[in-house]
Amino acid sequence: MKKIVMKFGGTSVGTGENIRHVAELVAHYARNDCKVAVVVSALAGVTNQLVDIAEQAKKGDEKKMQAFTKELAERHVTAISKAILNKQLQKETEKVVTSTISELNKVLTGICYVGELTPKSRDYVLSFGERLSAPIVCGALKDSKFEAQFFTGKDAGIVTDSNFGEADPLMDYTAHRIRLTILPLLEKGVIPVVTGFIAADQDGVVTTLGRGGSDYTATVLGVALAADEVWIWTDVDGIMTTDPKIIPSAKKLPRLSYQEAAEMAIFGAKAMHPRALEPVIKAGIPVRIRSVFHPDNEGTLITKEPEIKPTEVVKAVALIKDVAMLNVSGGGMVGAPGSYAKVLEVLGKNDINVMMISTAVSEANMSLVVRRSLLSRALSTLEIALLGRGLVSEVTAEDDVCVIAVMGANMQGTLGVASRLFTTVARAGVNIRMIAQGSSELNISFVVKEKDGETAVRAIHEEFKLDKA
Ligand code: ADP
Ligand code: ASP
Ligand code: MG
Repeated sequence: MKKIVMKFGGTSVGTGENIRHVAELVAHYARNDCKVAVVVSALAGVTNQLVDIAEQAKKGDEKKMQAFTKELAERHVTAISKAILNKQLQKETEKVVTSTISELNKVLTGICYVGELTPKSRDYVLSFGERLSAPIVCGALKDSKFEAQFFTGKDAGIVTDSNFGEADPLMDYTAHRIRLTILPLLEKGVIPVVTGFIAADQDGVVTTLGRGGSDYTATVLGVALAADEVWIWTDVDGIMTTDPKIIPSAKKLPRLSYQEAAEMAIFGAKAMHPRALEPVIKAGIPVRIRSVFHPDNEGTLITKEPEIKPTEVVKAVALIKDVAMLNVSGGGMVGAPGSYAKVLEVLGKNDINVMMISTAVSEANMSLVVRRSLLSRALSTLEIALLGRGLVSEVTAEDDVCVIAVMGANMQGTLGVASRLFTTVARAGVNIRMIAQGSSELNISFVVKEKDGETAVRAIHEEFKLDKA
C-alpha cells in the first residue's frame, strides 16, 4: 500500500464546492490502495486578507476589523454548507469555525488597543486562515464516510526555530514527533488533515514557514512519515516552461531534478515554496505537482535523476516582480579588501536578503537586487552605515524593475546560451540593467525595467521554442 502526502493549495480549496471536489479526490485514492495524509492551505485569498487586516488593526481600525471577521465567518459558513451535506457534521464544523473566528477577533482587538504588530503577533494572525480551512476539509472527508482527524501544524508536532515569518522546522525533532502523532492514525486507516504553513517554536508560540509554506509542511510530513511520494495539488498542470498566466501556451515540464525545481522555486516560479524541496532531497522522496482540475494528468514529477533530453538547453523562464535594484558605488571600493563584504554584512545584519549580486571589474560599483518591500530599509541602512566613510560615495535605487531568470540543467557547459539569450532580448528592444550567472550554470538571471518584463519573457520563450517542449 502506497503512502502519499497530498497538499491542496488555496486555489484548490477556494469554495465549498472545490473543497467537496478535494474530498472526492482524496477519497478516490484512499479507496484505491493508498494511505493518504492531507495538508491544506487557507481558502484562496484569506492569507492576503489577514496580512491586510493585521495592518489595519495596528492602526486601531476596530470597525474595519469587526466587518472583516463577520465577512470571514460568512464565507466559511457558506463553504461548510456546500462542502458538507450531513447536518450533524455541518453543525460540528460550524462550531469549530465560529470559536476560531471569535479567537481571531480577540487577537485583532488586542492589536487594535496596543497599536503594535510584532512578527510574533503577525504570525499568530496569519495562522487563522489554515485553522479555518482544515476543519472544513476534515468534515468533508467524514461526510464521505472516512475517518478523519484535524490537526494544526503545532498539534501535529511541527517544531520550528523562532524566525517568525520565515521559520524552519527542526527536522529531526519534528520527524520524531510527527511519527508519534500522525503515523499511528495513518496505519489505522484514519486520514489526518494537517494545516499547512503554520507550526510552533520550542516554546509553543505559533510560527509560519513563509508565504506559500504549505508546500513545505507537506514535504516535512512526507519525510517524517517516510511517504512514497508527496503530491502538491494546485490549479495548473505542473511546473511549466513559464507562468501560464503570462504565456498561455506555456508547456508542462513532465520531469525535473530536485536541483532544477529548487532553482525555479527560489527564482520565483510561484508554483512552489523555495525551501520546500530541502527535506525531500535528503530522503530522496519524489514530489509531484499536479492539477485538481485535471487529475488524470500526471503532472510534473520531481526526482533525483530526471530524464534529460540532450537537446534541451533552456527549460524554463520566470518573471520575478516586486523587486528593486540598488547600486552602491564609490572610488574608495577599488582595491579595498572587504568592501563588498562590508555592504553585504550591513544588509545581512538588518535581515535584508540579497537575491542577486553583480560587480564590475573596476570594483567601483556593486549592483544588488532585493525584495521591493525591503528597499527603503536597505537604502537607509546602507546610507547610515557606509556614506561619508571613504568607501562608498553614492547609493542609488531603481524600484521599477523585475528579474528574469532563465533555467535549465543543460545550460551547463553549453557554449553560446548567454549570447543567444541576450541577442534575443536586445532584438525585442529591451534594455538589460544588470546580469548575474551563478557558478552552477543552472540559471542566468538579469534585470530589466518592469514594463519590459513580459516582452522579454515572451521573446525568450519563443526563441528557445519552449512552447514546443
Ligand atoms: P496554490 O494556491 O496551489 O499554492 P500558487 O498560487 O501558490 O498555488 O501557485 C500556483 C501558481 O503559480 C499558478 O497558478 C501559476 O500562475 C504560478 N506559476 C508561476 N510560475 C509558474 C511555472 N513556471 N509553472 C507553473 N505555475 C507557475
Ligand atoms: N496560506 C499561505 C499563503 O498564502 C500558505 C500557502 O498557501 O501555502 O502564503
Ligand atoms: Mg502556493
